[in-house]
Amino acid sequence: MTNGSVCVLGSFMMDLITQAPRRPVSGETLIGTGFSQHLGGKGLNQAVAAARSGARVRMIGAVGDDEYGDQFLQRLEHERIDAAHVMTTPRGTGVGLPLVEPGGENSIVVVPRANLAVSPADIRAAAPVLEASDVVLLQQELPISTICEAARIARAADVTVMLNPAPVVDRTFELRGLIDILVPNEPEARALASDSDGAPDALGKTLLAEWGLDRVVLTLGSEGALIVDDDGWRPVAAYPVAAVDTVGAGDVFCGSLAAGLARGDLFSSAVRYANVAAAVSVIRQGGADPVPVFDEITALVEQGADG
Ligand code: ADP
Repeated sequence: MTNGSVCVLGSFMMDLITQAPRRPVSGETLIGTGFSQHLGGKGLNQAVAAARSGARVRMIGAVGDDEYGDQFLQRLEHERIDAAHVMTTPRGTGVGLPLVEPGGENSIVVVPRANLAVSPADIRAAAPVLEASDVVLLQQELPISTICEAARIARAADVTVMLNPAPVVDRTFELRGLIDILVPNEPEARALASDSDGAPDALGKTLLAEWGLDRVVLTLGSEGALIVDDDGWRPVAAYPVAAVDTVGAGDVFCGSLAAGLARGDLFSSAVRYANVAAAVSVIRQGGADPVPVFDEITALVEQGADG
């Protein structure tokens, strides 16, 4: 029996987005054309998506003892996400500094700061939270030793462990054997599989074997997603939308999938639900809140089933 609870161990990054005509060269000061600030980090984004999909969400992570940290704590409260295990540290809240050029191309500097303060000992202190969850959802913007500890504790308690391996880092492979469900996008899947040239179904099969997984869900952008398990592979066609801004679609997919599994949906239904939720998130203009809520998503899923 599931009780609808998801624990997200993950990051908080304040995104300070600068628009400029081009990237400055070394030593140059360039006048920018725009600036905006968003509360982000893959951990927060996925936790918000899970909460809007109706899950009871608890987050484990760290913010700085500063104004940005306060904004994140307020956001968690607003989204009804339990922050009892979100630490406040003197290291300063993590920041992401994307520079966006006119064609939409961007380059990003990320400074994790407080996110690196979450240690394996903190995870052991939060073990009861992990053990009481239906799904533990992980990404890779915290130290890998910390993520491994959470996966070990959750698995020992028979809790489903889902990893979105983003961004892929050198030590990602330490998580092999500790994960039930891997949710990579295509470039991540290619980076993680020993044979990186194949079609998505072959990539999925390789990952299933090499990582000792129950399931792989490959996200394929405008092509939808692919479920790979011991029974074979099943494509899930993209929900047709006119995409405006696809940044963060993977986060909405992962958070919504975790929520679907936590409420006891069949695996294929939970993937269909996540596929629609992520599609809806890409049609919202930048600046508008892109994460849809449960009723909105289920109405579209039902329409799709009827049609
Ligand atoms: P990431 O954001 O991690 O790179 P993807 O680009 O694979 O991940 O997108 C994640 C999911 O978002 C896809 O599996 C799909 O469900 C949805 N999605 C992304 N782009 C589109 C699109 N253009 N049309 C419909 N759905 C999309």
